[in-house]
Amino acid sequence: MVYEWILRGGAVVTPSETYTADIGIRDGKIAAVGDLRGASAERVYDARGKYVLPGLIDEHVHSRDPGLTHKEDFYHATRAAAAGGITTILEMPNCIPPVVDAASFRGRVAELESKAFVDFGLFGMVLGDENADDLAPMAEAGAVGFKLFWGYALDRRTKTLVYDASAREGTVPPPDEGQIFEAFRIAGRLGRAVAVHAENRELILHLTERERAAGGHDYAAFLRSRPPVNEVLTIQAGIALARAAGVHLHVLHIPTADGVEAVSEARRRGWAVTGETCPHYLFLTDEDYARVGVRMKILPPVREKRHQDRLWEALRSGDLQAVGSDHSPHTEEEKRGDVWTAPAGFCGVQTAVPLMLDAVSRGLLTLNRLVALMAENPARIWGLYGVKGVVRPGADADFTIVDMEKTWTVRGEALYSKSRVQPYEGWSGRGAPVAAFLRGRLIMENGKPLGKPVGRLVRPSTKVMPVPPVPKGS
Ligand SMILES: [Zn+2]
Repeated sequence: MVYEWILRGGAVVTPSETYTADIGIRDGKIAAVGDLRGASAERVYDARGKYVLPGLIDEHVHSRDPGLTHKEDFYHATRAAAAGGITTILEMPNCIPPVVDAASFRGRVAELESKAFVDFGLFGMVLGDENADDLAPMAEAGAVGFKLFWGYALDRRTKTLVYDASAREGTVPPPDEGQIFEAFRIAGRLGRAVAVHAENRELILHLTERERAAGGHDYAAFLRSRPPVNEVLTIQAGIALARAAGVHLHVLHIPTADGVEAVSEARRRGWAVTGETCPHYLFLTDEDYARVGVRMKILPPVREKRHQDRLWEALRSGDLQAVGSDHSPHTEEEKRGDVWTAPAGFCGVQTAVPLMLDAVSRGLLTLNRLVALMAENPARIWGLYGVKGVVRPGADADFTIVDMEKTWTVRGEALYSKSRVQPYEGWSGRGAPVAAFLRGRLIMENGKPLGKPVGRLVRPSTKVMPVPPVPKGS
């Protein structure tokens, strides 16, 4: 057989092992993994001395498209993803208009597909009673899962999220526990997981008012307005409701030791709960605020070092199961003001993998764990396992090729996103994605995206699958 590509002699990395092999690609799929010395191919990629990872998945991206394309759009976000060694992103539903029913799901896909440099899955949004009957049609249309922005009111007219928790006029109040329970039951029956933004609205309102009235204006005051209990309260409510409703709960962007304990305790009991953290919680602490300022404002907030230490430990032990970037760009003009008024979020899709690889080179994590956290586990949770997230015959020929000797420096102007606001300017590290393949096409080499947008929507092919414990010795 003649392969379209042979990736020659790389070290293939899975969650449980690292071994040297050739990989043969045909019709966009992995056709063979092993010793292919006698085989012929149209093209050969020399992977000797490099690591071959399954194409990495960023399960948490806000591309702002459509509706907020002055900040970012899908063309730029997916080029940035490819440049950063990501071959599949999972796109969040909160754009304008948001993805809340089958029609808006299809509309969004049609809008995005022609601009996609990487493959993408799309979440549907949980609004409670407002769209309980739309969850099944969204799953039918191909939603990878559902996203609940816990405690956020909606604009009555546009159905978009209202970020000011004190706003009342023209809003639909956030869904209550009854509505959430019902949505969870429906998602559970559909075999799709629900991802939650878990912060408690009442506590935030109360504590923010108190801190601002007391004249607090520094980062410490901001952190006091959102203490860890604010997250734990919602995570625990989510876990209890999800367990009773029979749905897999995925807690997004966990920045606290307390959040890790809540998730890992539920998992020790065998409940269907998983948790994600993000690079900014792993690489920044509250002490960076003095230097970085509001550029690093994000919700939930970046916290103290003791939380960060627990997050790293949780990634190694398996107490946390996924790393997503929470890429959420704003323009330079928007990302101003003080800690209370500046919008939350910044670019992260292009820097996520290099940062994590630097952590690998510093011994904080193994490459095997990185593959679990950014490929296999997200694929299991979001129904893509076997097509994405693995290196095995029959799977999509998606690969992230890594050179652990290559060094990098973050330069805002070199990012492919439309807005380049991020908190890592001038940072350098060791270990970089040097090539990426998407369904057998070379879409990135040496950090440069190649060719035309060939990404497409990826629909779940399985129901949500449990995430296994960390294999011994990885
Ligand atoms: Zn997010």
